[in-house]
Amino acid sequence: MNCRHCSSELKKKFLDLDFSPPSNAYLTKEDLSKPEMHYPLRVLICDECKLVQTEDYTDKHLLFSSDYAYFSSTSTSWLKHAETFVNKSIDRFSLSNSSFVVEVASNDGYLLRNFVKNNIPCLGIEPTVSTAEISKSLGIPTLLEFLSENVALELATKGTKADLIIGNNVYAHVPNINDFTKSLKILLKPKGVISLEFPHLLNLVKYSQFDTIYHEHFSYLSLRSVDTIFRSVGLKVFDVEELETHGGSLRVYGTHLENDIEISSNVKNVLQKEIDFKLFDDKTIEDLGDKVDKIKYDFLSFLLEQKGKGKKVIGYGAPAKANTLINFFGIKSDLVPFVCDASKSKQNKFLPGSHIPVYHPDRIMDTKPDYIIIFPWNLQMEIESLLQYTKEWGCKLIVLLPEFRELT
Ligand SMILES: [Zn+2]
Repeated sequence: MNCRHCSSELKKKFLDLDFSPPSNAYLTKEDLSKPEMHYPLRVLICDECKLVQTEDYTDKHLLFSSDYAYFSSTSTSWLKHAETFVNKSIDRFSLSNSSFVVEVASNDGYLLRNFVKNNIPCLGIEPTVSTAEISKSLGIPTLLEFLSENVALELATKGTKADLIIGNNVYAHVPNINDFTKSLKILLKPKGVISLEFPHLLNLVKYSQFDTIYHEHFSYLSLRSVDTIFRSVGLKVFDVEELETHGGSLRVYGTHLENDIEISSNVKNVLQKEIDFKLFDDKTIEDLGDKVDKIKYDFLSFLLEQKGKGKKVIGYGAPAKANTLINFFGIKSDLVPFVCDASKSKQNKFLPGSHIPVYHPDRIMDTKPDYIIIFPWNLQMEIESLLQYTKEWGCKLIVLLPEFRELT
């Protein structure tokens, strides 16, 4: 396989998570009697441009099926994050009712609704039918498409160009990162700004966040890679913020390469952090594999011990990351009988691969488990306070990353 950015041959392993079904392929009861496809889940690093990327195996349309179950508005902290960002952007970039904002992967309108509220014209571009329908019902103009160079050219020809293009947690998910980046350039007005958020590779490695690896997540981005890719299409990063979302993300601000704009010292600082951490060194990559193995054996020992004692261990949250972890660790419903999730679209379905059932959170009160594993560690605080009531019967909460630990 060749690098998705620079086309060099990919020879170096970053992390090998064996085989796994697509992490968003939640199953119905009927599906359980059908065969289930498993694909290799291997991550490689390009020796030339250092882009960390999943090994190729399948067509993107197989992954983002029309019943894709992730609705951004399910998380209240994410809604707040989006609202804060919108208010800040309106000020910083002097957006008004004569501006135009485009969001790529606008999901259910969790973010753009804040622009609608402020009377700032906007367009969402979203390939998933179920989320796009909700977005439209909120009065947000939404184009049901994957953003590609062709789609961008079509929009630009019709005069649709943006003062601000937002892409939150989409950049790492596009299979063709060069084409996508070109599309951003095409859609951007001469003085426009691009804002992209993505989990920072530095945190993945530092905090062993291997469960953020799944097939739909094609690239694991460092600032170094993003700046390289931007420059290859005539864009540049002029500012960057380090965010706490998704276990540590970057929000990069980009613009056309020719724009005379001062590059913030934040850019230099984050690039230096990556160098200081030796992010791309062989030893760092090897250590990551060892740390992941340790979490696996600690957790499996715990589950077996509790099983022996007759204790009940269940999970909270059924995000994609739970599936990566559960499938890589080889856990089934004999050790974790069920997980609860607030998202209706996942309830009464089964996790891909492990076939662990997903129930409404009410099930916790009915069954009074001894331990609850919080799988979405990025929402740990929010979930911890939601589960306060479980202390009543002495239930303990557990997180698995960056290492196995009981919350007190
Ligand atoms: Zn490369």
